[in-house]
Amino acid sequence: MYDTRSRSIALSIVVPIFNEEESLPVLGARLRPVLDGCGEPYEVLAVDDGSTDKTPDLLEDMRTAWPQLRIVTLRRNSGHQAALTAGLHRARGAYAVSIDADLQDPPEVIPDMLALARADGLDIVYGVRTDRSTDTGFKRRTAAAYYWLMRRLAGSFVPAQAGDFRLLSRPVVETLKTLPDQRQIYRLLIPSLGFPAGQITYQRAERAAGTTKYPLHKMVLLALDSITSFSAAPLRLATAIGAVSILVCLAFLVWTLTVYATGSTPPGWTSLIITFLFFGAVQLFCLGMLGEYVARIYTAVQARPTYFVARDTDEELQ
Ligand code: UDP
Ligand code: MG
Repeated sequence: MYDTRSRSIALSIVVPIFNEEESLPVLGARLRPVLDGCGEPYEVLAVDDGSTDKTPDLLEDMRTAWPQLRIVTLRRNSGHQAALTAGLHRARGAYAVSIDADLQDPPEVIPDMLALARADGLDIVYGVRTDRSTDTGFKRRTAAAYYWLMRRLAGSFVPAQAGDFRLLSRPVVETLKTLPDQRQIYRLLIPSLGFPAGQITYQRAERAAGTTKYPLHKMVLLALDSITSFSAAPLRLATAIGAVSILVCLAFLVWTLTVYATGSTPPGWTSLIITFLFFGAVQLFCLGMLGEYVARIYTAVQARPTYFVARDTDEELQ
């Protein structure tokens, strides 16, 4: 069997995979010729993120004919970013490229990324989507809102429309490894490290097969995680809303006292209920904001790994 450790590896491709039985054959058919054509020693880390369909069997079959394919199996579904972390931590290449299994990002661009990194001495090359017309209108709008918000909150260093298709040099991967093991949002974290970066543009294609593994609730979670891990602005927002409501409350107090002094009985009901509801809502909102951060502190203090590896085919080769 071909041992990926026996030669120094130039390029590691990290592919997080969750229930991609329809996409895998197409992935192999498109990725392999590109990588073989590069003429560089490479490895493909297929990180099986707890798939429950035929993905594990398919990967096993593919590996018999494709020795550079290395399977890393996680014990349970841990999420896209955690699967990426698992792959990056184990990658051996001088450069690592992360790419989704559904081929929405073209593997044909990988040699260009490598060439650009080498020619310009770059540590990061982002794959930037020029055209998302193949995504659904809903996905496009939510993605646009996400990137807008991230640039506002986390800073303009976040490249717009750069997803998780990117090339990283060994120094960047090693830097990532030194960071505490928490839920990482790579598309925000990596730009913030300050390494020299470039980009390659391409058109985003439709999913090769199957359906999205990012339903709405996962997108909302990603957005919440992105905001709370890069900005304390929401906490300040809670404070601001709290301050404004105290002012409004004071105005109400003055008004009530005036009505009381003029002797006419206040109508009571409506204003009472409105005040009650409004301030109840504001308090819940502020509590919720605090809760988001407390939850992050809680997870950080627990310091549990975000993934557990059940198997790495490279470790079986002796
Ligand atoms: N994925 C994963 N774990 C998950 C969800 C997704 O490893 O819990 C993988 C998935 O197989 C794919 C990539 O992450 O390779 C991106 O997912 P998808 O294409 O479904 O997201 P979208 O492009 O719709 O945002
Ligand atoms: Mg996709």
